[in-house]
Amino acid sequence: MMNRRQIVSAAAAAAAAAAAAAVAGVPSVRAASYDLLIKGGRVIDPSVGLDGIRDVAITGSRIVAVESNIPGDATDTIDARGKIVAPGLIDIHTHAGRGKESPALALQDGVTGFVDAGSGGPDNIDEIAAVVRGGPQICRALVNVATRTGFTGGELLDINRANVSLVRGAILRNRDVVVGVKARLSEDVAGANDLEGLRRAQEAASTFNLPVMIHIGQSVSPLRAVLALLKRGDIVTHMYAPPPNGILDDHGRLFADVAAARRRGVLFDFGNGTAGHFNWDMVEKATRQGFWPDTLSTDWTATARTTGVVDFPNVMSKFLMFGMPLSQVVACATTNAAKAFDSFSDRGTLNAGAPADVAVMELREGNFEFLDNYQGKRTGRQRLFPFATVLNGKRAPARA
Ligand SMILES: [Zn+2]
Repeated sequence: MMNRRQIVSAAAAAAAAAAAAAVAGVPSVRAASYDLLIKGGRVIDPSVGLDGIRDVAITGSRIVAVESNIPGDATDTIDARGKIVAPGLIDIHTHAGRGKESPALALQDGVTGFVDAGSGGPDNIDEIAAVVRGGPQICRALVNVATRTGFTGGELLDINRANVSLVRGAILRNRDVVVGVKARLSEDVAGANDLEGLRRAQEAASTFNLPVMIHIGQSVSPLRAVLALLKRGDIVTHMYAPPPNGILDDHGRLFADVAAARRRGVLFDFGNGTAGHFNWDMVEKATRQGFWPDTLSTDWTATARTTGVVDFPNVMSKFLMFGMPLSQVVACATTNAAKAFDSFSDRGTLNAGAPADVAVMELREGNFEFLDNYQGKRTGRQRLFPFATVLNGKRAPARA
C-alpha cells in the first residue's frame, strides 16, 4: 500500500513521463491513473498566465498535471469541453458566516474559499467563527470593530461600541479563522465617527499585523482623510460607491489620492451588495479612467441571492460587460483574491502541486440583465454560470 504522498508522487511522475512523451511526439507507454480528470476545458489560470484547452489531472487532494490530452484513466471524469476551468473562486467580501447552510450554498457557486467580512463584532464573532470553522471550504472572517448586539444598522454611531481591547480579545479567541478587522464608514453606519472607528480598527489589527477592510461610500469625512489611515495590504470595499465622498471628484475624475493609495499597496475591492454600494455610472466613469478592481467580491447574503448578487459568477459577468478581459475577471476572483489574505497563499492557482480547488463555469452568450444597487439595469452579452465545483480534489454536490 502506498501512502498518500507516495501516490501523489507516483502519479506526478507518471504525468511527467506522459508529458515528456507527448513533447517527444510518442504515445505514452504507461498511462497513469487519477482520481479525477477534468477533460478538454478552456483552462484559465492567471497565476501562470495560462489560457488554453487543457486537461486537469487530480490525485488525492492535489492537482498533479495540467496538460493537453492527458492520457490515462480516472475514477471520476468531468467533461469540461466548452466550459471554463478556473481556480476555485475566492470571495473576500461575503456574509456566508451568518448561516450554517451558507458556506455549502456558496460552494455550489464555485466559491472554494471566502472571507465573511464583518458579520461578527467582538460580541458575536464566536458564533460566526463556529459557522466558518464548520464550512467545507476554507472560510475565514473579519471581526467588525464594533459590537453588534442590538444592531440596528449603525454600529459605529455610538463610538463606545468600538472597543480596541474587546476586538483584540475576539481575535485572540479566534486566531485560527479571524484574518482581519472590518470597519463600515458610511454616514448611516458611522456618522461623524468614521475616522475614529477606523483608527480603533487599525489599533486592534496592528497588534496582530492584520489587514483592515473598510466599507466606503457616503461617509461624513472626505475619502482623502479615510485613505490616509490605510496601510499596505488594507482593503477598500464598495470601491464604486456613489457620492458623497466616493473615488471620483465632482467632475467625475478619479481623485489623485485614490490612485496614490493603490500605488502604495492599498487594495480596491468591488463588493457588489444590494443597496448604496455601486451604480453603473460610477463603474463606467472609473473604468474608463483605467481604475479597475483588484478583486471582485459579492457582499453575499442568503437574501442577496435573489436581489442583484445572485452568485459570484454573475458578479464577475458584470465586468465582462464593461470590457474587462475574461482572464482578468478570473484573476480578480481567484489569484488576486488569494493574495489579499495569507490563509489563501496556496490557493488561486491550478499549478501542479496546488490543492485541487477548481471552479468549472459555463460562459453563455445571449442577452443577460444585470442590476446595480439602484435598480439600474444593463444588458450584457455574456454570463458565467456555475457548472461544477471541485474542492480538495472532490466534486462538490451540484446545485439543487
Ligand atoms: Zn458586507
